[in-house]
Order: sequence, then structure tokens, then C-alpha cells
Amino acid sequence: MRRISIFGATGSIGESTFDLVRHREDIRTVALTGGRNVARLAQMARELRAEVAVTAYDECLPELREALAGSGVDAAGGREAIVEAADRPADWIMSAIVGAAGLLPGLRALRHGTTLALANKESLVTAGPLLMATAAASGATILPVDSEHSGIFQCLAGSSSSGIERAIITASGGPFREWTAERMANATLAEAVAHPSWAMGQRISIDSASMFNKALEVIETREFFDIEPARIEVLVHPQSIVHAMVGFADGGLLAHLGPADMRHAIGFALNWPDRRHVPVDRLDLARIGALEFRAPDDMRFPALRLAREVMDMRGLHGAVLNAAKEIALDHFIAGRIAFPHMAVMVEKTLQQAAGDPFFGQPATRLEDIEEADARARRWATTQAEG
Ligand code: NAD
Ligand code: MG
Repeated sequence: MRRISIFGATGSIGESTFDLVRHREDIRTVALTGGRNVARLAQMARELRAEVAVTAYDECLPELREALAGSGVDAAGGREAIVEAADRPADWIMSAIVGAAGLLPGLRALRHGTTLALANKESLVTAGPLLMATAAASGATILPVDSEHSGIFQCLAGSSSSGIERAIITASGGPFREWTAERMANATLAEAVAHPSWAMGQRISIDSASMFNKALEVIETREFFDIEPARIEVLVHPQSIVHAMVGFADGGLLAHLGPADMRHAIGFALNWPDRRHVPVDRLDLARIGALEFRAPDDMRFPALRLAREVMDMRGLHGAVLNAAKEIALDHFIAGRIAFPHMAVMVEKTLQQAAGDPFFGQPATRLEDIEEADARARRWATTQAEG
């Protein structure tokens, strides 16, 4: 019997993971975590007969307790309880909390040697070297869940990334792919969330519209596969069928194709190293007909340029980029700043950090990473208010 836990169970990735494990007789659920959606969390925990359900918010704990009364599922609440849920012995953990909040539980699971299916790209962007070193020290495996990184991993088919000439990740281009800069300046929240090909959580959907999602993913590629930044390319591919390609020294290019359904990448990570049936639509390429690719437009989408700058500087600048982006996103969602201003805020915060030697230190110590994250959040907040 395999024991699994799902962090961020009530989110988009969490729901898809739930969907893949609910009928599996060979899987037992240890912990499920969520936020304010306590009713759904309790419902999932009851169905999977989890050991424990954890809400990130103390004030939601009484409601969770009530919803789980008589079920045999323990209830817990608060930030600390989320991290402690990763101490419960498990064989496989889905890391699908959104944002830097996903770092601590993932890190804790890796210390225990648990296989970590990593959807939470923010933890690699913020703390890639720490995360990889922790996994290496305990012998834990990290499996990518982001579709592009699952695609690269699958193209490599277990071989090391040393022979790679280049890695290409694709981007749908998001809802503003064809918009002019003038039109983007007035984009509404509803327009930014309306992703053309993927159904995802609100925050990553907006990040896709701004290309900050792809910026995080370029850094994620660098950290996960240890590929030099110059060898990582981004292609806009509106059909979202090819998720990634790997080019080898002999000129061959392997591509990973799949439907725009995260259950493929989640199922791959869940069943790895085996391949099992996953209930996603099968691609009908004759019906799709054509696959288009084009270079991204760095003028309208400055996020990719910022990611390149961060990869050149390394150190704690990934933590700065991610934290500033999270604050900028909060402000856009709250209607306080215009869509293109998110990139302006992130760029200004990065410039502020670039002048301080503290941020040049490697992202290997949790205290430094947390301080970099906190300072970047303060700077970005001050800017938004100023
Ligand atoms: P979501 O917003 O739908 O769900 C987020 C989950 O995290 C929820 O369960 C929520 O309760 C929980 N959560 C939020 N803030 C928290 C906090 N401070 N502490 C503890 N829990 C908290 O997000 P999502 O779209 O499922 O994305 C989850 C992660 O997966 C993100 O890192 C995202 O970048 C990554 N990802 C998502 C997709 C996708 O298709 N949705 C694809 C690739 C990668
Ligand atoms: Mg992705």
C-alpha cells in the first residue's frame, strides 16, 4: 500500500490529484491540506479516509473539526500544522500549494526522504539550490509536475541532462497573446484570468497572461535540470499540445505532446517509474491539423527578460523575483494597479536588491531565503503604495 499526502488539495492541481487517486485501491491517504475552503477539504478527507486534514488558517479549524466530526479524520489548523503534516510518514507527496508558502512543507518532506511531486514551482524559483541539496542529502526524489518540466523529464527518459544541447519550453501566450500594449494597459481581472487553453487556479492564470508563469518556469528549468540559462528557450505555441522539447548534440529534437490537462503530468508523477492508464483525452492530431510556434515578444511581456537577469545574478534574486511578483499579483487582483504595472513593480524591486550584496549569497540557507523573500515583499508593497 502506498501512502500519499496532498498539499493544496483543494486547489486546481489538488483536485486533479484527488481525481486520480480516489479510486485507487493501492493508495492510502495520509494528509490533505487546504485553505479556507473547509467544506471541500472535509469532503475530500472523508472520501479518501485521510489520517488528517489541515487548514492553513487557525480561525478555520473549528469549522473543519465540526465538518469532520465522527469521521475518524483528525483536524488541524495553522501554518505550523501544515508543515507538521509533512512529518507524517508518506511515500509520495503532492506539493500543490500556490506561492512561496509551498516551500516549507516541501522542504520538510524532502528531509524525510519522501518522493516529492512538485507542482509548486515557486519553491524552486525561490530556493532551488536548497531544495536540490536537501533532496540529494536524504536521497529523496523530486518529480516535476509542471507540464513543461514533466515533458523535459519524459524526453530525457531517465538519462542525465548533461548531453542536452537545449531545452525548449512552450507557452500558450495566454489571453493577451494578440493584444496590443495599449489594450493590455486596461486589461481587467476577468480578462486576465480567462486562459485560452488551460483551466488553472486564479493566480497562475494571471501569471500566464503576464508571462510571469513562463518566467518562473525558465528558472525552474534551470534549477531542476541544471541547464545553463543560454540553453533554455521559450516558444509561443498557441495550441498547447507540445509542452517541451529537448535538443541533443546530434541535432535531434525530442518533443513531448499531450492534451492540455494537468492530470497527464500528475498521473505520470504518481505512477513513475511505471506508466499506467490516465483518463485524459487522447490527442487527435489529424483534427488539430497544425501546430504553430513563434518567438515570444519581450516588449509586451517583460517577464522573460527579468527571468534572464535573475538567472545571471543567481543568489537570492529568484526569491526576490517571486516575492515581488506575488505582491504585484495581490495588488492587481485587488484592483489597485494596472496589468502592465506588475512587471514594473517586479523590475524595480529587483533593481533595489541588485544594489545590496546580501542578495548575492547563494540560495542554500533557509534564513537567508526567508529574509530575501520578506525584504522583497516590503519593498514591493512600499512601491505599490508610493
Ligand atoms: P490554486 O489556487 O487552485 O490552489 C492552491 C492551493 O493552495 C489551495 O488548496 C489553497 O487552499 C492552498 N493555499 C493557498 N495559499 C496557501 C497558504 N498560504 N498556505 C497553505 N495553503 C495555501 O492553485 P493551483 O492552480 O492548483 O496551483 C498550485 C501550484 O501548482 C502553484 O504553484 C502553480 O504554479 C502550480 N501549477 C499549477 C498548474 C495548474 O494547472 N493549475 C500547472 C502547473 C503548475
Ligand atoms: Mg507550466
